[in-house]
Amino acid sequence: MIFDILTLFPGMFDSPLRESILGRAIKQGLFEVRAHNLRDWAEGKHLTVDDTPYGGGDGMVMKPEPIARAVADLRQQSPAAKVLLMTPQGVPFKQQHACDLAREENLIFLCGRYEGFDERVRQTLVDEEYSIGDFVLTGGELPAMVMIDAISRHLPGVLGSSDSAETDSFIDGLLEYPHYTRPAVFDGMPVPDVLLSGDHGRIACWRREQQLLRTLQRRPELLEEVLLDAQDKKALERLRKELVPKE
Ligand code: SAM
Repeated sequence: MIFDILTLFPGMFDSPLRESILGRAIKQGLFEVRAHNLRDWAEGKHLTVDDTPYGGGDGMVMKPEPIARAVADLRQQSPAAKVLLMTPQGVPFKQQHACDLAREENLIFLCGRYEGFDERVRQTLVDEEYSIGDFVLTGGELPAMVMIDAISRHLPGVLGSSDSAETDSFIDGLLEYPHYTRPAVFDGMPVPDVLLSGDHGRIACWRREQQLLRTLQRRPELLEEVLLDAQDKKALERLRKELVPKE
């Protein structure tokens, strides 16, 4: 997988992609990240990439021509590359998008600055638009990094243990169960007995029920989308009753 990034600040990608799991995976050649400076496709003495908005108003708008030239160049090397626009107006980025995008061979991230892109960029050059949340950042670099991190976890070999993503929150539509490690008692709080029992069947049941409970307490709307078997449904019904405050 190749992640190409079109940005005015390619240096922002250096440090986060050198560290830890992603740094190791890049060194091993499991995926490649290429941060390109959009000014390399700008023209004129000042290599201008932005201009004032038609109709007036504050802020600058990113010009379409350098982006069109950059995308055309990158697509020459990889015609099937998918172009993703970072924008607070895009589809909210979810775990399922990360899984799906991990199947692509080449993704091109467009990182905006200022007021964002000329509308014709969105209309003609972009395959998908993503937002990482209902807030506005100064640029698309952090959203691109967030997406690259989430996507690359699904590439073969990137995570140390092959199943460590399988139980993550959102993978099966639920939040993950709580984790405990040593000591067995911390600050007067013991680890749940079942986790010390060595009984893998009981541990699996407890974890599943904890997933349902957590999701019910924190993100009940997720339960409307998730596929539950008969046992899950029974457990959920009981948990719902237990959570209803007694009069
Ligand atoms: N004027 C734009 C609007 O209100 O929709 C916001 C522009 S923002 C200051 C500059 C750039 O940051 C955007 O073009 C986009 O690339 C990026 N950006 C900001 N917030 C984002 C978010 N929540 N998700 C994805 N990209 C974001």
